[in-house]
Amino acid sequence: MNDLLLLKQGEIVLKGLNRRIFEQRLLGNLRRRLSRIGKFKVYSAQSTIYVEPEEAGADMDAAFEAAQKLFGVVKVVRAAACEKDKDAILAKAVEYLGEDLAAAKSFKVETRRSDKSFPMTSIELSQYVGGELSERFPQTPVDVHDPDFIVHIEIRDLAAYVHAAPVQGAGGMPVGCNGTAVTLLSGGIDSPVSSWMIARRGVHLIPVHFFSFPYTSQQAKEKVVELGRLLSAYCGKMTLEVVPFTHIQEEIRDKCPEEYFTLVMRRFMMRIARRIALDSGAGAIVTGENLGQVASQTMEAMAVTQAVLDLPVLQPLVGMDKEDIISLARKIGTFETSILPYEDCCTVFTPKHPRTRPKLSEVEAVERTLDVEALVEEALGGVERIALNDESL
Ligand code: ATP
Ligand code: MG
Repeated sequence: MNDLLLLKQGEIVLKGLNRRIFEQRLLGNLRRRLSRIGKFKVYSAQSTIYVEPEEAGADMDAAFEAAQKLFGVVKVVRAAACEKDKDAILAKAVEYLGEDLAAAKSFKVETRRSDKSFPMTSIELSQYVGGELSERFPQTPVDVHDPDFIVHIEIRDLAAYVHAAPVQGAGGMPVGCNGTAVTLLSGGIDSPVSSWMIARRGVHLIPVHFFSFPYTSQQAKEKVVELGRLLSAYCGKMTLEVVPFTHIQEEIRDKCPEEYFTLVMRRFMMRIARRIALDSGAGAIVTGENLGQVASQTMEAMAVTQAVLDLPVLQPLVGMDKEDIISLARKIGTFETSILPYEDCCTVFTPKHPRTRPKLSEVEAVERTLDVEALVEEALGGVERIALNDESL
């Protein structure tokens, strides 16, 4: 059958001189992903990446799925290769796409010819193969304007390829080519999506979760681990850092006025995330904040929260509607896990009347009742590290 995958690269083809570096990164990420599925030959030519099975029974379905989750790829298609000869191409189209053609309401043939030495033009080849196919599949008429099914033919340097319509890839840029960031991963709907969006820009992520056992349950942690695993299908190998947060929250509860609980807590999260970032060479902190969604997501509250930082905070969801965030969560497959009912530490000790327009000086005064440095050190000393590898890949 000569079944293979063709992956079309996205923005990286525009990167000029850096293009090779980006492409090498993409190939490396792909090879690492595929090595868990089976033996595949991976190479690139003419802005396309080829994935060929190197052993009988290599799981092409799994490889196809993995390729669709690889950042840096805009389209993925399963194709069959054959000799660059019009009748070999016709025979391959019948063999490989015959079932689709028989089931389609109408069809057309579209040819792309990057090997200009091929003796027929694209139009001539499309007409030849289209004419022959319509004789073999008389119940499926040709419709060049609005076909139900398209037989794609590509004449490339190495061979000819026959395939149906490509599916969309994950887009973006290869993970690792735009640095590293710490991402704050709660168990909610938003932060898996914000993490995904930044990873999609080519950023390697270090997910950090603040865990307040026993106020939040073991299942709440499991849920975050599961979200991290789902993300790793896109982001590659990651290590989740689980920060013990109970003592900090109890200190805040015991020593700060209730209306400041959330703000002080969020400033602790940022201080700890900053330290993890500095220790691991990360250049930014990612959060799932969304303007106006809750009291801590006003501009004033964000300013107070971020005042403890000297790193940029990337908030890709800041201007999105909740509905759009949810549809993205569904698309990337995190939604169903995010809505499992376990509590997050943000909902423990939630103030009844939080400050929505806090002043930095007030919050700083409130924090003087706490030994901030010691609490940060204690939390960092108790970090648990959990390797996230998507086992389904
Ligand atoms: P999410 O759906 O991501 O939980 P949210 O709408 O509940 O977001 P907040 O509770 O205000 O918003 O949290 C804002 C951001 O802070 C989250 O998106 C996440 O990035 C981070 N965050 C909140 N709680 C935690 C936690 N327990 N561990 C790590 N990060 C957290
Ligand atoms: Mg939350």
